[in-house]
Amino acid sequence: MAEFTMELNDEQKEVRDWLHGFAADVIRPAAAEWDEREETPWPVIQEAAKVGIYSLDFYAQQYFDASGLGIPMAMEELFWGDAGIALSIVGTGLAAVGVLANGTDEQIGTWIPQMYGDANDVKVAAFCSSEPDAGSDVASMRTRAVYDEAKDEWVINGTKTWATNGGIANVHVVVAVVDPDLGSKGHASFIIPPGTPGCSQGQKFKKHGIRASHTAEVILDNVRVPGSCLLGGKEKLDERLARAREKAKKGGERVRNAAMATFEASRPAVGAMAVGTARAAYEVALEYATTREQFGRPIIDNQGVAFQLADMRTQIDAARLLVWRASWMAVNGKPFTAAEGSMSKLFASETAKKVTAQAIQILGGNGYTREYPVERMHRDAAIYTIFEGTSEIQRLVIARTLSGMPIR
Ligand SMILES: Cc1cc2nc3c(=O)[nH]c(=O)nc-3n(C[C@H](O)[C@H](O)[C@H](O)COP(=O)(O)OP(=O)(O)OC[C@H]3O[C@@H](n4cnc5c(N)ncnc54)[C@H](O)[C@@H]3O)c2cc1C
Repeated sequence: MAEFTMELNDEQKEVRDWLHGFAADVIRPAAAEWDEREETPWPVIQEAAKVGIYSLDFYAQQYFDASGLGIPMAMEELFWGDAGIALSIVGTGLAAVGVLANGTDEQIGTWIPQMYGDANDVKVAAFCSSEPDAGSDVASMRTRAVYDEAKDEWVINGTKTWATNGGIANVHVVVAVVDPDLGSKGHASFIIPPGTPGCSQGQKFKKHGIRASHTAEVILDNVRVPGSCLLGGKEKLDERLARAREKAKKGGERVRNAAMATFEASRPAVGAMAVGTARAAYEVALEYATTREQFGRPIIDNQGVAFQLADMRTQIDAARLLVWRASWMAVNGKPFTAAEGSMSKLFASETAKKVTAQAIQILGGNGYTREYPVERMHRDAAIYTIFEGTSEIQRLVIARTLSGMPIR
């Protein structure tokens, strides 16, 4: 195990500065335009692909950084640039991680390259779990996958919603019910290959923030995929289901919704996105407060303004430390005995909402207009307390983990 240090190593600093340069020179200048257009910023994704930021290699390098800080550092810098565009760039990575975590080597090798495409023909991927009646309550999922043994195919039916890149993705990763008696233990993930008949985009949502990121329903109407599209393979699934059935029988109770406790290791990444947005708004507010004059002096000369900035920066730094701790724990295989992953996401996302609102206040009338970026950052920040588990669900996970009680 590496010696404890609060310092990034030279290689990490180099990557951070390179990402910051891309965020400052390419993402930030494009942010307002794509927010207004509410469209996927394909040219920016292409630019990211050209320099190697939009690729599996880059994502894998950060993912396997032994310190655990590769992903949080990358997320913070890209989301500092702009949350909507950054989500368009990293959204594919979230689907790719689903395949990396559960897929066989062959599935990883076949599908992940098709998720990204190449710099001349970029593609995106989508991870589809949420449904109209199954958001926080993942166990209520209805999308059904039934095995057709004669053809070695899975037949999938259902409606997914709020899928980032849903319908425009080259490859969709879809979570579906394979055994309805097992709650979330009876779920499995499937690859829907490009152009599969029956898989289509439903409604595209007009959103409050992160408007450059495409969010839509995905309709699955008698979608047939080969047996090889079941992530991890049939044998592994059958073993897992047999174990879950055995456990359910022994316990004599409905299998508990495990999905609430999953994602503990991926939540710090969302916390890092929130830190990026919060830091961006704080920097704009600090600069404004030192240059804007009222009553013959910069507004930061007033404690009422300066103390707000002091609190904003303190909370951002605290959020980052929670994110880094959880990321370090994940990579070192430390058990999350106090739901430290959820803690980091909860604190960072609430901080982003608060800090971006304070930034608007510090910019006064200008803060409320689209002439300045903090208005957009505040709209963007609202997503962090909602996706990958709402703040209430994070508190539920933390409270259950701390107490061991089935708190509702
Ligand atoms: C922009 C965007 C992108 C998204 N991208 C994806 C994606 O790529 N893939 C995907 O699968 N999903 C995605 N989602 C879905 C997202 O994960 C869900 O919206 C989220 O999990 C919350 O579910 P819900 O919206 O159904 O809210 P609900 O679960 O209906 O919750 C509504 C409110 O009730 C509260 N609540 C619910 N249960 C409890 C409880 N037990 N205790 C206390 N409070 C509770 C919640 O905290 C919330 O405040 C995305 C959503 C958005 C908005």
